[in-house]
Amino acid sequence: MNDDARLDHKVLAAVERLGRALRAARQQVATRHELSLLGLNVIETLADGRCRRVGDLAAELDVSQPTVSDALTVLDKRHLVARHRDSTDLRTTVVSLTSTGSAIAADIASELRPVLTAKAGTTSERATTLRVLLGEIARLQHAGIITVNRSCFSCHHYQPPRARTPARCLLLGTALRDRDLRVDCPEHAPR
Ligand code: SF4
Repeated sequence: MNDDARLDHKVLAAVERLGRALRAARQQVATRHELSLLGLNVIETLADGRCRRVGDLAAELDVSQPTVSDALTVLDKRHLVARHRDSTDLRTTVVSLTSTGSAIAADIASELRPVLTAKAGTTSERATTLRVLLGEIARLQHAGIITVNRSCFSCHHYQPPRARTPARCLLLGTALRDRDLRVDCPEHAPR
């Protein structure tokens, strides 16, 4: 293994280690609220207030539609989610959080905040880490491993940096420094 391959290996091992730690922290919070890990992920995803079709939610969480349907049934029984008609297409059913679900989502967010708040490195180092990780996510999406990616690097409106011009969001008309890159943007338009 050459130096480059060794570095790749260490980066991957570190990301995996981080992923396992975050998963363990999420599992603890889920258990406290008598939720499955997937149930917690559903609540966290719907916490942005956007209604989703079951299929879209499944794609976003990288699980099958029947799996997410089962999780929704459990959440429905606890009155944490509601299914209703999509206002833009009455033939389609969408799901969203109920007020009880939103209250639990707020509790979950505050319980996870200390774990999810990055403290390592300077602001500039953390911004660079964000750019590198979003690049990796875009690569994995390209490889068909990640289905849904609503970050800047997969967005139609993203203009990469040029000689002396920083990256830009053509929709918002703003420069995108590394720290401004979005992971889950409501304005995202797939390329
Ligand atoms: S619309 Fe959102 S995701 Fe797309 S480039 Fe602009 S900020 Fe990034």
